[in-house]
Amino acid sequence: MSMEQMQKLKKKLPEWLETSRLRTGQGDVAAYIPELAKASRDTLGIHIADSQGQTVSAGDCGLPFTMQSISKVFTLILALMDHGEEAVFYNVGKEPTGDDFNSMIKLELVEPGIPFNPLINAGAITVSSLIAGDSPEEKSERILQFFRKLAGNDRLDYNMDVYHSELETGDLNRSLAYFLKQNGVLKDPVEDVLSVYFRHCSIEVDCSDLSRMALVLAFDGVDPQSGEKLIPRRYIQIAKTFMVTCGMYNASGEFAIDVGLPAKSGVSGGIMALVPGQYGIGVVGPSLNSKGNSIAGVHLLERLSKEFDWSLF
Ligand code: GLU
Repeated sequence: MSMEQMQKLKKKLPEWLETSRLRTGQGDVAAYIPELAKASRDTLGIHIADSQGQTVSAGDCGLPFTMQSISKVFTLILALMDHGEEAVFYNVGKEPTGDDFNSMIKLELVEPGIPFNPLINAGAITVSSLIAGDSPEEKSERILQFFRKLAGNDRLDYNMDVYHSELETGDLNRSLAYFLKQNGVLKDPVEDVLSVYFRHCSIEVDCSDLSRMALVLAFDGVDPQSGEKLIPRRYIQIAKTFMVTCGMYNASGEFAIDVGLPAKSGVSGGIMALVPGQYGIGVVGPSLNSKGNSIAGVHLLERLSKEFDWSLF
């Protein structure tokens, strides 16, 4: 981080955050997973990290929340590392849908029954089934260890209340999974696949964990602090492209225009964003807009992008 940018961020970030926080009343927390409905609508936090270990944060940045759809970026990467590009994209497509994340309408792409992309639920459920491992437990454990490594935090774990809440109520995901199974996309039993999927959605982080994970993406797969190569560059390229084209649900085009950064949001109100070669950013703001993105989080990222001219486009 340049000294100048750092100083401006330190000085201004709390004020910008409070301005964005005024928006939280215009949205609402996700309630379809009952446990997520307990989140506070007014929460807003952000943490920004750079490669030299400098950080800036503001608001409720220490609050734990579950990754939800943000986890899909990293399970995709792990599946690619396990099986390679060809095998993964035999089962899941590369195109945005223009529909809600859990839409049943456009499951088909190249062959009947292949989900459009790995970031919609049908695609991410498919990706969960591709993670190497002899049992759902082993697959889940590999995912957790991978996430811990990326976050540089051995204490990352599941929020079991959220996991059980979704397991009990996730019948739309269950029906998507049965459809995929019927079409031969899923090979394993549906409940086994869903237990892996729901588990990785329920991994709990805070904004600083998310910013560290984003930093690895921002530095082409290298942990900037240790210098260790964690992810092949090609898979980072694929992940970042999906983040730009499908990362913010059906508002990815608008986000690309207004913010212009690779980002992925989740229904818990988290957003992971990155400025390539510069910063990893973690945001939490559980009040969601009609597209399922954190209403205040998007507002704050837009402000930051404009202030520092971060847009890639
Ligand atoms: N676990 C959530 C679901 O499958 C993730 C949704 C999301 O964050 O978009 O419904």
